[in-house]
Amino acid sequence: MIQIQPFTFNPFAENTYLVYDETGEGVIIDPGCYEKTEKDALVQFVESNNIKIKYLLNTHCHIDHVLGNDFVKTKYQVPFLIHQKDEPVLRSVKAYAPSYGFNLYQEVLPDGYLEEGDTVSFGNIVFEVLFIPGHAPGHIGFYHKDSLSLLSGDVLFEQSIGRTDLPGGNFNTLINSIHQKIFTLPDNVVVYPGHGDTTTVGEEKISNPFCALNLSR
Ligand SMILES: [Zn+2]
Ligand SMILES: [Zn+2]
Repeated sequence: MIQIQPFTFNPFAENTYLVYDETGEGVIIDPGCYEKTEKDALVQFVESNNIKIKYLLNTHCHIDHVLGNDFVKTKYQVPFLIHQKDEPVLRSVKAYAPSYGFNLYQEVLPDGYLEEGDTVSFGNIVFEVLFIPGHAPGHIGFYHKDSLSLLSGDVLFEQSIGRTDLPGGNFNTLINSIHQKIFTLPDNVVVYPGHGDTTTVGEEKISNPFCALNLSR
């Protein structure tokens, strides 16, 4: 059975997810760990649950989601995968990280790319990759159909949506991603977002003020 372990890291309160199952295989999505205590918390969980990490995945490459990439890549030596359209976003982080106080940030470039329709398999888990741009140009989500779980980064939040004022962001594109790729999933799909608490597709369809506004357009 799928286990989705959240960690909230760095001053942006970013959600890092460790996903694994009974086989012991797992992946780390959007490691935002920067301080030693954060890295220790991640490693301690991996070790105490005997998890063998198979992939490092990024939903998108804003600074809060990539701060721990170097640590995870170095520690576990696993393939690092993103959508190709977020590589410019990733490459831009190095230049602006010091201005946010992250002087120790080390860039890691991807080993490969994911796109809509690809799958990522580990243990008995198969993630389907959804391309959901708008918050970032190469934003993807990881959908686990068997458990009705969606790890969707900064696209859809409880009662909110991702910001679209950063480079590569586009409001209409984001709303289209939500309506076409997320709201077409079953209502009982649980959304694990990049910030804040989990929600469900059905809940946000009914009450998300940003998305409801646009239903009438
Ligand atoms: Zn973001
Ligand atoms: Zn974020």
